[in-house]
Amino acid sequence: MTEQQLRKHIIRTALAMNSLGINRGTSGNVSARWKTGFLITPSGRRYEDTRAADIVFVNAAGKPSGKWAPSSEWRFHHDIYRNRSDVGAVVHTHSSFATTIACLRKDVPAFHYMIAVAGGNSIRCAPYATFGTQELSNHALKALADREACLLANHGMIATGARLEKALSLAMEVETLCEQYWRALQIGKPKILSVREMNTVIRKFRSYGKPDRADDA
Ligand code: 13P
Ligand code: ZN
Repeated sequence: MTEQQLRKHIIRTALAMNSLGINRGTSGNVSARWKTGFLITPSGRRYEDTRAADIVFVNAAGKPSGKWAPSSEWRFHHDIYRNRSDVGAVVHTHSSFATTIACLRKDVPAFHYMIAVAGGNSIRCAPYATFGTQELSNHALKALADREACLLANHGMIATGARLEKALSLAMEVETLCEQYWRALQIGKPKILSVREMNTVIRKFRSYGKPDRADDA
């Protein structure tokens, strides 16, 4: 993919967050790894008005270049790319149900086996810190250890992936799980799956959706 194509793909992903109903207005941000740095949505601009040239490049040292300021959350995007070689794209949203759970500062436990899509037996909620700060980035990185997504207390969520499509679809999954968890909490105390069962699910996920599935047990 050329740089121009990737810039357009970032805008399409940001627009999709809003049309899929997992983000509103100029909240949230999207980035993708590019060369030794990354490309990211500009801060505070409507995605509908954002053009390829408006996407900001941030280099390996965290220095931005472009017409606009990079997303105020460029620090956690930067730190994720530096610390996680498996990640090629990052989506941050203020989706309603994930944010609702994040406002309770609760991890999402293994109330449903699909929690494993985020890489483990819970989706952690990072402690609160002001948006755009290094402190928030430090908290996010910790909450993302061995995980591909996390909640941010009183704020929203982060979903990562090897590619933009993966990060966006994980954000959708996390939002769906948070809605289901919220619904279950309305009528009782959800039963939590054991660590043993979740390890089985995580193992099965390694071959799920892949061709020539050898391990299905
Ligand atoms: P930006 O417009 O600066 O990306 O900020 C949106 C946001 O979600 C901050 O947390
Ligand atoms: Zn935010």
